[in-house]
Amino acid sequence: MTIYLKRGKDESLRRFHPWIFSGAIHHIDGAQEEGALARVLTADGDYIATGHWQIGSIAVRVLTFEDEAIDEAFWQRRLQAALEVRRAIGVADSPNNSTYRLVHGEGDHLPGLVIDIYGATAVVQAHSVGMHRCRNEVAQAVKTVMGDTVQHIFYKSETTLPFKAELGQENGFLLGGSPDDVAIENGLKFHIDWLRGQKTGFFVDQRDNRSLLEHYSKGRDILNMFCYTGGFSVYAMRGGARTVHSVDSSAKAIDLVNDNMELNFPGDNRHKAYAEDAFRFLQQMEEGSYDLIILDPPAFAKHKDALHNALKGYTRLNLRAFEKIRPGGILFTFSCSQAVSKDQFRMAIFTAAAQSGRRVRILHQLHQPADHPVNIYHPEGEYLKGLVLQVE
Ligand code: SAH
Repeated sequence: MTIYLKRGKDESLRRFHPWIFSGAIHHIDGAQEEGALARVLTADGDYIATGHWQIGSIAVRVLTFEDEAIDEAFWQRRLQAALEVRRAIGVADSPNNSTYRLVHGEGDHLPGLVIDIYGATAVVQAHSVGMHRCRNEVAQAVKTVMGDTVQHIFYKSETTLPFKAELGQENGFLLGGSPDDVAIENGLKFHIDWLRGQKTGFFVDQRDNRSLLEHYSKGRDILNMFCYTGGFSVYAMRGGARTVHSVDSSAKAIDLVNDNMELNFPGDNRHKAYAEDAFRFLQQMEEGSYDLIILDPPAFAKHKDALHNALKGYTRLNLRAFEKIRPGGILFTFSCSQAVSKDQFRMAIFTAAAQSGRRVRILHQLHQPADHPVNIYHPEGEYLKGLVLQVE
């Protein structure tokens, strides 16, 4: 199919923004099949981009600005380039690390596609109908580029594809079928539940921030709120924490934390996990129980219209931590809401600090790691932000 843009609507594409909104389209020639490849032309009929067409406000997700075929060689080139970046930052081909994001959507010029690597398993997630249709080509390219390091490819898009497209997609293996579920992050072992776990099974994006936490852990009493698989908790243990308490409202998450703890520190009784609501736990805990607290909640704002309440939520949550943390304590606090900007998040934390009356200093400003690159022309891809604060 061929898409003709309205006059003047090619400007953002000339700056390599990877989305075309439906309002920019003048008309479409050819069969309109959702997820199909579209050649996009300017009002003057000049080629400008090729991408996946989809019904909705984002009408085209651009795969390339070159007039090239989207074939086996294309997928291989894109994945090879993605792998080179992960090699350069030291997360791929490392004996110490087998857990990383190979493809991060727009950040790797592949809008709608996420691929996480867990040991010998690649978990592929499509967020667009076009990527769903290409899943077998993508899987083939993963196999070619990764060679023997990847033996299993699990496709997990049940919850990420647009509901209205009615694809009836079920999760399943495109290659192999791995019973082995242990992957290594910075030398620590984690069970990854890609079948039932959240996202692709693990939050790869906190790797660097967990490493930083490890350096702050020695001799401290640590509370890891919203712990999920216990990533921060396991690093805290290795860093020499005195005690580590992990909290998550999901009982399944608590089982995962306990399993991961047993895998890395069998029989070590410095750790305890609690299946409880975070707000309740913070409300009930005694003042001064902890001198390091991690707050890594789920996205409070999934959409822009939820922004106001989300900011209030961040303030409320952080206020509890400021009120109760031991003097001289360290707070690692995060937001993974894309709709919340770095400045808005900082303002929400500022408000909490001011309400608590404590003196607070910013020690680190954190973000997503380099295997979650941000396309500079697509700032929407920047979602994870965090602050490390010292509370006097
Ligand atoms: N810090 C984790 C990722 C956190 S994901 C990591 O490094 O991997 C968010 C987690 O918050 C989920 O596991 C979810 O079960 C939990 N959660 C959501 N609402 C909660 C609440 N009100 N109280 C406690 N945990 C909650």
